[in-house]
Amino acid sequence: MQTPAAFEYERATSVDHALSLLKSLGPEARVVAGGHSLLPMMKLRLARPEHLIDINDLKELDYIRHEGDEVRIGALTRHRQILDSDLLFGLFPIFRDAEQVIADPIVRNRGTIGGSLCQADPAEDLSGVCAALHASAVIAGPGGRRTVAMADFHKGPYETAVQPEEMLVEVRIAVRPDAGSAYEKVERRAGDWAIAAAGAALWLSGGLISDAGIGLTAVGVDGFSAGDAEAALKGKAPSEAVFAEAAKLATAATAPQSDQRGSAEYKSQLAGELTLRALRRAAARALRQEA
Ligand SMILES: Cc1cc2nc3c(=O)[nH]c(=O)nc-3n(C[C@H](O)[C@H](O)[C@H](O)COP(=O)(O)OP(=O)(O)OC[C@H]3O[C@@H](n4cnc5c(N)ncnc54)[C@H](O)[C@@H]3O)c2cc1C
Repeated sequence: MQTPAAFEYERATSVDHALSLLKSLGPEARVVAGGHSLLPMMKLRLARPEHLIDINDLKELDYIRHEGDEVRIGALTRHRQILDSDLLFGLFPIFRDAEQVIADPIVRNRGTIGGSLCQADPAEDLSGVCAALHASAVIAGPGGRRTVAMADFHKGPYETAVQPEEMLVEVRIAVRPDAGSAYEKVERRAGDWAIAAAGAALWLSGGLISDAGIGLTAVGVDGFSAGDAEAALKGKAPSEAVFAEAAKLATAATAPQSDQRGSAEYKSQLAGELTLRALRRAAARALRQEA
């Protein structure tokens, strides 16, 4: 059994306390939430933080609520709570689609949305979901809070806009009428990481697609968003031909690696097919709302 290198442990009592610890302990300090990504990396010595700042007591970051024209999800909200949330299921069913196929109940009981997004693993499902929904991230730091669009949050594999003295505190998603969303994932076995996955969100107005989001997971898409596919959907009436064109553009946006999960060509084709399926389901859900 591998063990991590030695580290000091601090338990934060508030966001301000966590931020002051990040500042005083310096760049070798890391926040730990569910620990389901960080601790395995520490055991493999892929991460060697000198200090861990445990944020699991921060109830102020544990919520899902509808405020004004937004849904706000605290960074410490667990996968399990997202899976079970009827509020999220009603407004953004893509979350439940994705959470049903993220890992297993043990991981879902502890892993958090904040940890998922900050880990920035290219195969992280919630990153694809949040990209499709055009979510934004609220980041707290010594200078206060700033809001970053999801398109600017992910800087590359394992790299985000969160700076060493900062932490992610909230995810926000605009609530707009006549929306539908869905997530499609193929994995080798239940609970595994994706071979490829696609999230789609559509917003309708007067029978046309007023806005669209496509988030692709595990297929080497910078920032998880397939911008050309999104642009091809806007202003069109939802149809099989329009979705097929968007799926083709989604395939073209991918740059996956061949590995034990499949060849690069297979993953690219799969991403396109999953985009098509996600678009069909997102449209059916949006049309039900519009009716
Ligand atoms: C067996 C297994 C299978 C899995 N399968 C899947 C899967 O199919 N799909 C999937 O998407 N995920 C999967 N995961 C990952 C799971 O979703 C984790 O919960 C998630 O990656 C990280 O969440 P966490 O809260 O555990 O983060 P942690 O491990 O605590 O932290 C991860 C990183 O984020 C940082 N961090 C955490 N919270 C914050 C914050 N608020 N602000 C700033 N930085 C922060 C940490 O410093 C660390 O760098 C799997 C994990 C395991 C162990």
